[in-house]
Amino acid sequence: MRLLVICLFALLVVLSLLGSGTLNGVVGAPGGVPSSVTQWWGSLEPLARQYEVDPLLIAAVMMQESGGDPRARSWAGANGLMQVLDGPFEPNSNLESGIRILATNLKTFKNVRAALAAYNAGPGMSDADVASNPAQRFAGVRGAARQAGASVADFDKYYVYLPAETRKYVPAVMAYYERFSNGTATLSATGGPIRMPLDKFSWTPTFGKDIGNGQAAHSGEDLMAPCGTPVKAAFNGTIVYRGCLYGNCRDGGATNGATGHGLVVIEQFDANRYAVYAHLANYVTDRDVKAGDMVGTIGMTGWTLGCHLHYAIWNGSLDDLLKDGGKGWVDPKQYFPTAVLSQ
Ligand SMILES: [Zn+2]
Repeated sequence: MRLLVICLFALLVVLSLLGSGTLNGVVGAPGGVPSSVTQWWGSLEPLARQYEVDPLLIAAVMMQESGGDPRARSWAGANGLMQVLDGPFEPNSNLESGIRILATNLKTFKNVRAALAAYNAGPGMSDADVASNPAQRFAGVRGAARQAGASVADFDKYYVYLPAETRKYVPAVMAYYERFSNGTATLSATGGPIRMPLDKFSWTPTFGKDIGNGQAAHSGEDLMAPCGTPVKAAFNGTIVYRGCLYGNCRDGGATNGATGHGLVVIEQFDANRYAVYAHLANYVTDRDVKAGDMVGTIGMTGWTLGCHLHYAIWNGSLDDLLKDGGKGWVDPKQYFPTAVLSQ
């Protein structure tokens, strides 16, 4: 009997060790990452430390590139776990090649999204190199920035000039990154966790279109949900403005003589990027917010024909935003998780 108890105890110990992963080489791998990726954690984690890149960002890139399959091969000749062009298939060297490229991109572009775009579309050529390769003028991240007349760190301004595949790739990796880090990761100011400002909503893309509200081009996206629905910060940031914008704060919408954006909360989430939450009924008075913190509730203030959140992203200075320079609105969809975009 005692022997049986000891055996059972030993079995339980072994089972619990298996369960916590200490027997299969994934010590310290985070829970939200699929096992197809965590099986490489023993190689990934030390390389992440060596190259000073967040291991969860590497895991997100690997998930998107190969799903953790070391034999993956693309039609374009990208190989292995990290889909390195003409790279080795051997997992360790493939990982190191991919991480080295990612680390270089992060240092060069100083913006997580730009670094991911460069991982997918290539960094593009410097001004000096373009002189002798004019055909490459608009290739890669530098090429897109050149086309937009923007700096390479100013991702929002040249996002639309990137190849269609890259415009899907960046939010896809960011969505994995957000999921793997469980909303707790903090990258640089431009790469923190992102969420939608509403938990449940319906929408039809209208950014840049004439929706009959007096603007030639709609400056954001309208997310439909009942009045009173909590509006949550989409980013880690700071509330820098609460009040009426471009009109009055009258309640009841356009038919009641309300104009402009009504009551808004403006959140700064980067040096020159602001999220605008408009037509609110009220706001909550926090200064610093984390993604997911409540900032107010949906109302019908300003020019609106029904309860909804007008969600817009401004790239530029707060002064220009408050004066409505008109040129700073960027497509908020680049900050939408892919699950929302594919709805
Ligand atoms: Zn709107």
